[in-house]
Amino acid sequence: MLKTTEPVIAIVVPCYNEESALKHTMPELLKILSNLAEKGDISEESYILCVDDGSRDATWRDICALASSYPGRVHGVALAHNRGHQYALLAGLMTAKENCDAAISIDADLQDDPQAIVAMVKQFKAGSEIVYGVRRSRETDTWFKRNSARAFYKLQRAMGLETVYDHADYRLMSKRALDILSEYGEQNLFLRGIVPQIGLTTSIVYYDRAERVAGESKYPFKKMLAFSIDGITSFSAKPMQWIFNIGILILAVDIIVAIYVLVSHFCGNTVSGWSSLMLSVWFLGSLILIAIGVVGEYVGKMFMEVKHRPRYNIRDRV
Ligand code: UDP
Ligand code: MG
Repeated sequence: MLKTTEPVIAIVVPCYNEESALKHTMPELLKILSNLAEKGDISEESYILCVDDGSRDATWRDICALASSYPGRVHGVALAHNRGHQYALLAGLMTAKENCDAAISIDADLQDDPQAIVAMVKQFKAGSEIVYGVRRSRETDTWFKRNSARAFYKLQRAMGLETVYDHADYRLMSKRALDILSEYGEQNLFLRGIVPQIGLTTSIVYYDRAERVAGESKYPFKKMLAFSIDGITSFSAKPMQWIFNIGILILAVDIIVAIYVLVSHFCGNTVSGWSSLMLSVWFLGSLILIAIGVVGEYVGKMFMEVKHRPRYNIRDRV
């Protein structure tokens, strides 16, 4: 009988001050991993990689304890200081990449149903290189979080940023997808924008989003807003192009203003100096906007150049 080797799966968990949540999360993840390995769906060498993102509490000590209790099953890396979720995740994925067939990223707070891992592995084995975890509902989110998130998805779309709706960073990526990800050398990291650019065969797994199991959210509104703006400005030069468009629009409005000013002037109901001032203010205003827009076009080009993103990714060869 032909013996197939099962894939090594790495579960990457970014942790920032998660000592209270890890107590609940790790047993869950370990159980899922053992079950999958026992059933022969994944390799016995599959493991969990916790990334401590410069926590100030006992998170790292707990990770070390778990690593010695479950040798080979739990690994940890500690970042030298707090860099934020996206960077902690990237550090984990890039570390796992060297030693897995696919990596699944999941938050430390059990908000993303870990059972979806089973479905993700199934999709991976069926040929998907990227499997997105997508929230079925957002009932556990507050009305404000739900609607502000929706508004940002829409804004991002309008700005030409391709993201997967209601998908956070809960996803599986094959080693090949991770290799391609490693070529995106940009500093401003917005993984939700980069991953769809990778291409390859993708699929979706739906799950219900739960409440945080313990501890507090590390993403208050202010951080979320900054993150969303970062998402747009890391991918789109459109806001700069809009300056140019507005300049052209105002130039068109200038014609109407000019007619109004000239008619008023020749009818004689203007104080001296008003007409010339009005005409120059409007004309110069639009000229300045157009000039900024032109500079913006070049800055936009440079912005794309300095990212040194791969210009294409190869899917297949024969
Ligand atoms: N996180 C991190 N570094 C940070 C902030 C958060 O590694 O600076 C981790 C955190 O431990 C969690 C995940 O990122 O595993 C998502 O954070 P959180 O659950 O607080 O965000 P929310 O779900 O509330 O948006
Ligand atoms: Mg959370």
